[in-house]
Amino acid sequence: NQFGQFNLKANIIKAIDGIGFVKPTKIQQRLIPAVIAGRDVVGQSQTGSGKTHVFLLAIFNALDPSVNEVQAVITSPSRELAEQLYEAFRDFQKSLSEIDKNFSNLRIANYVGGTDRHKQTKQLEKNQPQVVIGTPGRLKDFLGQNLLLVNHNKFFVVDEADMALDMGFLTDVNIIASAMPSDLQMLVFSATIPDKLTPFLKKYMKEPLIEEI
Ligand code: AMP
Repeated sequence: NQFGQFNLKANIIKAIDGIGFVKPTKIQQRLIPAVIAGRDVVGQSQTGSGKTHVFLLAIFNALDPSVNEVQAVITSPSRELAEQLYEAFRDFQKSLSEIDKNFSNLRIANYVGGTDRHKQTKQLEKNQPQVVIGTPGRLKDFLGQNLLLVNHNKFFVVDEADMALDMGFLTDVNIIASAMPSDLQMLVFSATIPDKLTPFLKKYMKEPLIEEI
C-alpha cells in the first residue's frame, strides 16, 4: 500500500492493509510526515477527510504497549464522535494485534458522560489505559480526582476544536492540557479556526504546521 512512503514502522504499514486502506487521503499525505517527525499540527478539515487516521497512525506508531502509562489522550466534544474514534482505534488495534501480539492487551478507554463512572473508576484504580478517548468533562473529572494520570502523556489531540469552543468545553480542554508535560506533542483538528481559538493554540502549541484541506 502507498502508506509505505511514510516513515512508519513496518508493522503499522502491514496493519493498514488489514483495515483496507490503500492510498493516503490528502490530509494524511500532508500531515502524517510532520506528525511522525514530532511536530505540532493544526489540521483545518472536515469530517470525511480522513483526519482521524492522521493521529491514529502516528499514535500507534509511537505507542509502547508494554508501558502501563497514558501515552495518548484524544478529546472529542460529542459522545457520538468519541464513540466513532473509539471504534476506529479498536479496529486498528485488532488489525495490528494479528501482526504483533503485544498489542492485543493494549488498553484503549472511552470516557464520555452518561456512562458507568463507578466501573471506570474501579478500572482506573487498577490500571491506566495507554490510549484515552473522551469528552472533556469526564476527562477533567478523572484528572481532578487523580484517577487518570497524564504526567507522562506524549500526544494530546483536540478533535473538532471549533465545536468544543461552541459547546463551552474550551475551559475543560485547557485544564486537561495544563496537566500534561510541556514537551507534549499537540494535534488540533477543526473545521474552522475561529479567532476565539487562537489564544488556546498559542498557549499550548509550538510552531505548529497549519494545513487547510
Ligand atoms: P474521517 O474523516 O477521519 O472521519 O474518515 C472518514 C472515513 O474515511 C472513515 O470511514 C475512514 O475509515 C475512511 N478513511 C480514512 N482514510 C482512508 C484511506 N486512506 N483510505 C480509505 N478510507 C479511508
